[in-house]
Amino acid sequence: MKCDICNEEFANSIELDKHKEREHPLGDDDDNLEKPDMLQDQELPAPIVPGKN
Ligand SMILES: [Zn+2]
Repeated sequence: MKCDICNEEFANSIELDKHKEREHPLGDDDDNLEKPDMLQDQELPAPIVPGKN
Protein backbone atom coordinates (compact mmCIF):
# COMPACT_ATOMS: atom_id res chain seq x y z
CA MET A 1 0.00 0.00 0.00
CA LYS A 2 1.34 3.41 -0.90
CA CYS A 3 0.36 6.68 0.61
CA ASP A 4 -1.11 8.69 -2.22
CA ILE A 5 -0.07 11.89 -0.53
CA CYS A 6 3.61 11.37 0.25
CA ASN A 7 4.22 8.10 -1.62
CA GLU A 8 5.50 6.27 1.43
CA GLU A 9 4.95 2.54 1.40
CA PHE A 10 3.14 0.50 4.06
CA ALA A 11 2.53 -3.17 4.72
CA ASN A 12 -1.23 -2.85 4.81
CA SER A 13 -4.10 -0.41 4.71
CA ILE A 14 -4.27 -0.22 8.48
CA GLU A 15 -0.75 1.08 8.72
CA LEU A 16 -1.47 3.39 5.85
CA ASP A 17 -4.57 4.65 7.61
CA LYS A 18 -2.64 5.30 10.80
CA HIS A 19 0.03 7.08 8.87
CA LYS A 20 -2.50 9.27 7.12
CA GLU A 21 -4.20 10.22 10.35
CA ARG A 22 -0.89 11.14 11.90
CA GLU A 23 0.90 12.73 9.00
CA HIS A 24 -1.89 14.05 6.84
CA PRO A 25 -4.73 14.97 9.17
CA LEU A 26 -5.97 17.61 6.76
CA GLY A 27 -6.25 15.30 3.77
CA ASP A 28 -9.88 14.40 4.21
CA ASP A 29 -11.40 11.88 1.85
CA ASP A 30 -15.04 12.64 2.51
CA ASP A 31 -17.07 15.56 3.73
CA ASN A 32 -18.43 13.76 6.76
CA LEU A 33 -15.65 14.91 9.00
CA GLU A 34 -16.46 17.35 11.73
CA LYS A 35 -15.36 20.81 10.88
CA PRO A 36 -12.98 22.28 13.43
CA ASP A 37 -14.43 25.70 12.71
CA MET A 38 -17.59 24.68 14.49
CA LEU A 39 -15.70 23.80 17.65
CA GLN A 40 -14.80 27.33 18.51
CA ASP A 41 -15.23 28.38 22.07
CA GLN A 42 -18.55 29.91 22.81
CA GLU A 43 -19.24 32.17 25.70
CA LEU A 44 -21.64 30.49 28.03
CA PRO A 45 -24.37 32.56 29.57
CA ALA A 46 -23.93 33.29 33.24
CA PRO A 47 -25.30 30.45 35.31
CA ILE A 48 -28.64 31.03 36.90
CA VAL A 49 -28.48 30.72 40.64
CA PRO A 50 -31.80 29.69 42.10
CA GLY A 51 -32.65 31.01 45.50
CA LYS A 52 -31.44 34.52 44.92
CA ASN A 53 -34.15 37.15 44.93
ZN1 LIG B 1 1.78 9.97 3.62
